[in-house]
Amino acid sequence: MSEDSEIEKQICDVLRRNGKSNALKIAKEIKVDKRIVNKHLYNLERSNQVFKTDELPPVWDLLEKMKEIKQTPKPEQKPQTTRDTSEEKHVEDLLRTGALKASHIARDLRQSTQTINKQLYTMMQKGRVQKCSISNLWSLNDEWTEESSSQESDSCLQVSKPGSHSELFEMITELGDGGYGCVYKVKHKIDGKVYALKKVILTRKADSEVKALAQLDHPNIVRYITSWPGPDIWTSNQQRNQVSTTTYLFIQMEFCEGGTLTDWIQGRNDLKKYRTTAEIHKIFSEIITGVEYIHANNLIHRDLKPDNILFGADGKVKIGDFGLVAAQTDQNGDPIERSKRKGTPPYMSPEQENKKNYDEKTDIFPLGLIWFEMLWKISTGMERVKLWSDLRNQRFPEGFGDEYSAESTFIMKMLSYSPEDRPHAKDIKRDLQTFFSLEQDLLNPKTV
Ligand code: ATP
Ligand code: MG
Repeated sequence: MSEDSEIEKQICDVLRRNGKSNALKIAKEIKVDKRIVNKHLYNLERSNQVFKTDELPPVWDLLEKMKEIKQTPKPEQKPQTTRDTSEEKHVEDLLRTGALKASHIARDLRQSTQTINKQLYTMMQKGRVQKCSISNLWSLNDEWTEESSSQESDSCLQVSKPGSHSELFEMITELGDGGYGCVYKVKHKIDGKVYALKKVILTRKADSEVKALAQLDHPNIVRYITSWPGPDIWTSNQQRNQVSTTTYLFIQMEFCEGGTLTDWIQGRNDLKKYRTTAEIHKIFSEIITGVEYIHANNLIHRDLKPDNILFGADGKVKIGDFGLVAAQTDQNGDPIERSKRKGTPPYMSPEQENKKNYDEKTDIFPLGLIWFEMLWKISTGMERVKLWSDLRNQRFPEGFGDEYSAESTFIMKMLSYSPEDRPHAKDIKRDLQTFFSLEQDLLNPKTV
């Protein structure tokens, strides 16, 4: 049994033995770091083995307990079924008015939350209701459509009340406005700290982004704090009227005050700042370290580009924007069929552009382009256009190979048309370290 499945087994054993529990208590009992326990709890939630109760901070329980209710009928099952059915009908009637938390249903039906939770999970087994894992709101099954990004698909969240968590923040500036959301620099009114707050329309895509961020904990990945669903804020009245019913997901993250790699490249291209090769190697090795960690967690980023690579207050690289993150394989370890052309075209690998099956090597291709851009000054947009298609076909501008002979060998491999010919992130990192230490020793023997 792998170490991961051993930990997951231990978590389930604790829940079976002690009943519902939170990550901290489980971590203490099985003597594993709380963050690791949390990561596994979310894995177990994804594979339908545990669920989050309505209690906060999150309290977890085994889903099998809910199944037992259905699978081991008591002798008085017959009348029970009739009672269940009428209770189910009451629950359904309530849910028809909108998505609700189990505790609200319990209050309306004058039942305990535990009873209603059991009821809801039994109904979930029958495919009649579903639970939104982010908001803990229950909705009727036909109100949820898998891939849709429309607001109807998020009906389970539309009951979020205005005046929610988002109002604890004061907006300082807008940092970015993408197709699917907005990122703000904000100040928390209570703790006084500055954060980045990403506001995205609540869809399955947003759900994947937040789940991936919550699972990842690494110095080279943007640090996730928390998330919550809520109505729009900081939008003009006119815009607000146009999107009045949309529910958003707010993702609170560390604020990366060093800006993006795009700013860094721009600064160098404008010759505002001089960059040494040692600095470039250091940054690139942090990028590859972050990517290696993402891949080790069975994920693919799928949108690596300078806009999505940030620098923290400590100057360290922080990979962000997990809006296109995806699992490497399905639960059986088989390849996943993917939508074509998701990503940012200039940085997209050839297979991401035109194939339905691809793996983590798709992230290596843009890393080759990024490394090149960090090394080579591109002065004009025209020059960039001409150079880019050559580069994507492993052709470097004159002089690049002479000036950066070792780097060009790496980059050439990373830009291989066939993913199999590209190295893994962990191999690039290993080779880079060997290369760096040589380079550093030559350049500056005192620097490690
Ligand atoms: P998507 O690509 O998922 O549709 P997006 O590109 O709009 O979304 P992000 O890339 O997450 O969203 O953020 C947009 C911009 O906001 C970034 O390019 C960066 O300039 C800024 N930004 C994002 N997160 C942070 C952060 N944690 N700290 C500082 N700035 C950030
Ligand atoms: Mg982005």
